[in-house]
Amino acid sequence: MVNLINKVNNVIDDQLHITQFKVKTNKLYGFKAIGSNTTSNQFCIKMNDPTKKIKINNKDLENNINLKNYVLICNANPWTNFALWTKRKDLIQKFFDKHKKPKNLILIYSNPSVDKPIQKTFGHFDKIFNNVSADKFTNIQNCTGQQCINCLRCYNKSSKNADNIIVEKVRNVKNAPNHICKACYSHKGINFRAHTMVKPLQKNSDLLSKDILKPIQIPRIIDRFFRFNHHGELIT
Ligand code: SF4
Repeated sequence: MVNLINKVNNVIDDQLHITQFKVKTNKLYGFKAIGSNTTSNQFCIKMNDPTKKIKINNKDLENNINLKNYVLICNANPWTNFALWTKRKDLIQKFFDKHKKPKNLILIYSNPSVDKPIQKTFGHFDKIFNNVSADKFTNIQNCTGQQCINCLRCYNKSSKNADNIIVEKVRNVKNAPNHICKACYSHKGINFRAHTMVKPLQKNSDLLSKDILKPIQIPRIIDRFFRFNHHGELIT
């Protein structure tokens, strides 16, 4: 309704773009997600290519606007479990040392090192997501081959360590790099489909990181499970 009014009145669209996964072969089939633009995120650019001379903003992490907005969305939708993958352990630590973490927010540390699985959660993280080469750690690979909708390990909190340590073989890459961001699926996907993907993802980057969302901009989610950042990373 708001979008319709905005279109009719020719007003700038200020609603978050929500991605729906409708392709049956997609790992996230059946899910909805809010992503942001990986290719404009300083942290992602640097992690994807460490030779680039880029300074990552590390100031005022305890008041990060992106996380404040995610917390607002979680609190407005208490029936939905939100899973957030992030490599920004510095940001998560500082922010949630100061702010209350919603019960329906599941924080997943995305371990950037390949073949060095972390086998225990730490800090504010509920789960750890590890990547390994296809032929290594085969006895502990537990996120290989299935779709999230048929698994949901990442979308339900658990007190069992076995439920909270996720290990996936690196997908669609012949020789796994030592650092998962060097084989970033998001950078590749966005660069390949820049004409359709950049605009909605950059709109989300701007809306999530520049200001606190107004009440009318906070999406109401009707799903039981939801994903933050299928593309992109927390923005500082
Ligand atoms: S372990 Fe997590 S990422 Fe892997 S299929 Fe299950 S829910 Fe999805």
